Amino acid sequence: MNAITNHLPTAELQALDVAHHMHPFSTQNDFNDTGARVITQAKGVTLTDSEGAQILDAMAGLWCVNIGYGREELADVAARQMRELPYYNTFFKTTHVPVIALSAKLAELAPGDLNHVFYAGSGSEANDTNMRLVRHYWSAKGKPSKTIFISRKNAYHGSTMAGASLGGMVPMHQQGSLPIPDVHHINQPNWWAEGGDMSPEEFGLQRAQELEEAILELGEDRVAAFIAEPIQGAGGVIVPPETYWPEIQRICDKYEILLIADEVICGFGRTGNWFGSQTVGIKPHIMSIAKGLSSGYAPIGGSIVCDEVAEVVAATEFNHGYTYSGHPVACAVALENLRIIEEENIIGHVRDDVAPYLKEKWEALADHPLVGEAKIVGMMGSIALTPNKETRAPFAADTGTVGYKCREHCFGNNLVMRHVGDRMIISPPLVMTRDEVDTLIERATRALDLTFEQIKAEDLY
Ligand code: PMP
Repeated sequence: MNAITNHLPTAELQALDVAHHMHPFSTQNDFNDTGARVITQAKGVTLTDSEGAQILDAMAGLWCVNIGYGREELADVAARQMRELPYYNTFFKTTHVPVIALSAKLAELAPGDLNHVFYAGSGSEANDTNMRLVRHYWSAKGKPSKTIFISRKNAYHGSTMAGASLGGMVPMHQQGSLPIPDVHHINQPNWWAEGGDMSPEEFGLQRAQELEEAILELGEDRVAAFIAEPIQGAGGVIVPPETYWPEIQRICDKYEILLIADEVICGFGRTGNWFGSQTVGIKPHIMSIAKGLSSGYAPIGGSIVCDEVAEVVAATEFNHGYTYSGHPVACAVALENLRIIEEENIIGHVRDDVAPYLKEKWEALADHPLVGEAKIVGMMGSIALTPNKETRAPFAADTGTVGYKCREHCFGNNLVMRHVGDRMIISPPLVMTRDEVDTLIERATRALDLTFEQIKAEDLY
């Protein structure tokens, strides 16, 4: 406990918070009166708030606390590194031990010839790096006209100018004159919402072929890269049909464009492999990483780059970098996090134990009258709320009205589960036990029941 939480009651903390803290992705005035919930401690998969409530965190913070909260080893490593070398940069021909060790480890863990790491402080910054790095790469190869990035509607690649532009979130584009030029969005492989009468397989193929159409329309000589999350996270945990990724890979192989896998959520065990690219069977030229890299204990992200791209870039000066690229404390924490994931076989725990158990229970939620599809890969899942399972119809009320109510019932029941429109999503810590899965499902079911009762009473069903 620090001095402030020791001394101030919740209401005073909340008053200071709304007075001085601008919250990300929030309508601040909505909680001027009620205040935000003050989280004071966490252990394993459980958060504690300033009133002592114990909350099951089925989102692992923001999809990041893969090894769970409260691991002393990471705190010890951070303290040791701060004493030894709290900061130094890696610009201008200097380096340090934590960044060397982490880079070598990531090269060992990453598939194929992804052997080179450019560091950032976050996933957004990693994608900003990718945009500049890839354009610089093509220019250095004598193809400066290859500047266009193809991405997908409803993708999430971050909140910076490049990240939000690469992302396909309309409400984000509406603020700040986005996207920036030379970003093109194709449709997403969201069969539930957009598949119409097609089978998921037909639809997956059709949506992948939109990439080929876009390349032909824009010109192969102008397209630099295609970027996508192996499984869309913030867009609502959209699991693409099986036909989607093989077709995307075929198209990327056929035309001279780079494939960038945004592994910011899918990386570091979330899908039951080290990387989501392995789960969906693709071979990217670059992977964006962050979140699970340090399990959220320190802000760090980066781009893992293949040999060929790194070699071309290495022959020139790349005028890019952040003060905190390869921050020694963040690197040391990330390295310790990777050691824990590996030595405790956390990915094996996901793949062989907890994810299959969660999958069975999660998919059974589709029997609830309010739930249409229930999808899950590893430890990231979603359920689509619907008034009609057969037609996959949306609610008559504005998108997100029902999802928000469900989220509030989750919160009221000490469960953090997010809503994206009318999809409810989870991404719990990978260390979750079977008992904790039971608690998650019990609380989620109660929240669904309460939502169902409420929307019937309010004539929204
Ligand atoms: N890419 C993906 C796929 C993400 O999910 C996120 C964050 N949710 C980002 C990039 C941006 O990461 P950050 O918030 O660390 O900038």
